[in-house]
Amino acid sequence: MKKIAVLTSGGDAPGMNAAIRAVVRKGIYHGLEVMGVYNGYQGLIEGNIHKLDLGSVGDIIQRGGTRLYSARCLEFMTEEGQLKGIEQMKKHGIEGLVVIGGDGSYRGAMALTKRGIPAVGVPGTIDNDIPGTDYTIGFDTALNTVIEAIDKIRDTATSHERTFIVEVMGRDAGDLALWAGLAGGAETIVIPEDPYQLDDIVARLKSGHERGKKHSIIIVAEGVMSGNALAKLIEQHANIETRVSVLGHIQRGGSPTARDRVLASQFGARAVEILMEGQGGLAVGMRNHQVVDYSMTEAFQGSHKTDLSMYQLSKELSI
Ligand code: ADP
Repeated sequence: MKKIAVLTSGGDAPGMNAAIRAVVRKGIYHGLEVMGVYNGYQGLIEGNIHKLDLGSVGDIIQRGGTRLYSARCLEFMTEEGQLKGIEQMKKHGIEGLVVIGGDGSYRGAMALTKRGIPAVGVPGTIDNDIPGTDYTIGFDTALNTVIEAIDKIRDTATSHERTFIVEVMGRDAGDLALWAGLAGGAETIVIPEDPYQLDDIVARLKSGHERGKKHSIIIVAEGVMSGNALAKLIEQHANIETRVSVLGHIQRGGSPTARDRVLASQFGARAVEILMEGQGGLAVGMRNHQVVDYSMTEAFQGSHKTDLSMYQLSKELSI
């Protein structure tokens, strides 16, 4: 293998730049030429492909977002789109591809592998929802952003003796809500992995009130319902007025934490090694603090496992 390429696809996540840097530098270290594909699979179809040298990934390790930009591209889900992408790769002499993104992006990578161009997936998403890896790039940064917000909200919640609902991202996974709730000392955490118990929430709020606890923080994962919908339910069933904070896209931005930068560096480098070994259709991940690789089909067929012992712990610590 002499020439590889890297692209970022799907939702952006802090740490993607550190992963791009790792792919480029690791590739060049081993004598490969590394190309950057701009705008995800859209750029692949259009041939928006340019050489990346050592300097082109300088000063990006600390930046959020993605220097290669990201896009969602419906055309790449079709055979025609994928063949156009392959044609561009052949034209540029690209023999392998690193795809940094979520499981949707992995499907594109799998399609390329099946059509003869080995592609490797690097998990980049704040949702931490990719089966087969304990962590994804961006999760830790998003988590710290949420914690910072909760700490600030707590100040006003305490001063005004109010109940706050904080809606956090995570798509169908509750990891961000769960970790943020535990680290932020939330009284209640509502996640998709636990059958939603409104009675439970109401009972906890009421007993807290009776004990004289006038403020409380409820974290709700977007995958369950919106913060505003939960506020309405609580008002109807517990007659408690709440304030809602929807954190939104601030969770996707910002300078990556040290942990995300390290993870991204390890993942990006391993992805290059896999391509150099002549393999494709694999994803890199972290299991029990070890970098691993596994078949992408495992990522499609498995389901991400949220650590529910943390959920139980958060309940025990917020009595
Ligand atoms: P994420 O990678 O964050 O899960 P998406 O699900 O939006 O984000 O996927 C990103 C892109 O990956 C899509 O816009 C599309 O270009 C490509 N993609 C998704 N699913 C497939 C598929 N089944 N086959 C080929 N490409 C796909």
